[in-house]
Amino acid sequence: MAGMTHNLSSQCRACGAPIVAFMSFGRMPIANGFLKAEEISDEYFFELAPAFCDRCGMFQIMEQPRPEKMFHEQYAFFSSTSHYMQAHFAAFADVIMKEILAGRSDPFVVECGSNDGIMLRHFHDKSIRHLGIEPSANVADVARRLGVCTISAFFNRKLADDIVSEHGRADAILAANVMCHIPDLPGVAVGVQRLLKPDGIFVFEDPYLGDMIAKTSYDQIYDEHVFIFSVNSVMRAFADYGLELVDVAPQITHGGSMRYSLAPKGSRKVAPVVAEQLKKEQAQGLDKAETYARFKKNCESSRSRLMQALDNMRRDGKRVVGYGATSKSTTVTNYCGITPDHVEFISDTTPIKQGKLSPGAHIPVKPYSEFVRDYPDYALLFAWNHAAEIREKEQTFIAAGGRWIVYVPDVSIVA
Ligand SMILES: [Zn+2]
Repeated sequence: MAGMTHNLSSQCRACGAPIVAFMSFGRMPIANGFLKAEEISDEYFFELAPAFCDRCGMFQIMEQPRPEKMFHEQYAFFSSTSHYMQAHFAAFADVIMKEILAGRSDPFVVECGSNDGIMLRHFHDKSIRHLGIEPSANVADVARRLGVCTISAFFNRKLADDIVSEHGRADAILAANVMCHIPDLPGVAVGVQRLLKPDGIFVFEDPYLGDMIAKTSYDQIYDEHVFIFSVNSVMRAFADYGLELVDVAPQITHGGSMRYSLAPKGSRKVAPVVAEQLKKEQAQGLDKAETYARFKKNCESSRSRLMQALDNMRRDGKRVVGYGATSKSTTVTNYCGITPDHVEFISDTTPIKQGKLSPGAHIPVKPYSEFVRDYPDYALLFAWNHAAEIREKEQTFIAAGGRWIVYVPDVSIVA
């Protein structure tokens, strides 16, 4: 991989200013690219390197694999497998119905990246006109079987125009953990502008930069997350397209997210919390290069402490199993150099991942029953963003003497 880091200057996807990577996580496979042993020789790698744009404040990765490599027919992530996320999206839908749609005649809701219908099913249940846009065909099929209207496509200006001519403009455009996936942010902004009614609202949520920096949760950075947004960067990115940031609301999902509400400029009052959150970001130094230099050091320190713990456990003959074959775990295993010698297998309840190997590190993925059958000494909690739900579920593991290895916000061994 000689010379790989020499090609890491580019242009900001949001504003076009020159940007340079402030660090590299090295050679990285597709985060959700779980593979069979015979596919190892064809495995795709790219260099995962983040940059921060001085001009507009946008945090982004320099190189992103083509979307077809990431969201394909066999895409393995189904939102509804988590009960916690089900409750989260029921509440999200409820807020939209009560605060935005109430009193409107025949409202129309569009969701970008509607996954398996985890949110839109609630609109379907209330007979509210809706349309889901989900590029992964197998995931979209699950939504259709629930009766959720879904098309398999990528959101852009052309699709927005097609939707307007077929269904009319939208009262609400929603997205959860999707906007940060789309590299052509200006294209999305134009699409939203054209699809939204003059009194409509665009509400989306994504992992939040402030949380990632504060917790050193560098595993938020992987191929699908081309941006990690902040209030400042979202406000600026959409302002040029006539969309004003009118509200923000921190969320605990995905290890710390932010919900952003944007509306055609001047159509709604801007909530005071927007200015408050901008002040917090300045106090945290999210607009300063030195913050990212410190983040890089914190990542390196997290990596060496995690590997020291795993090396010690291996030397002591302890069994370590990974818990949750998450997309996030791909950054951790590959950046840290975790191998099947450190982690015997990764337990995961998603059938499509079982019997395969983890991307890059090639740790076997086994069904959850294998974890329960013979508890290991330690479980490396890759699904740390679901820690509360998991630790409650796995009390028998702890009672049997098992311990969790966590690495966010710090590397530690916990009961
Ligand atoms: Zn920029």
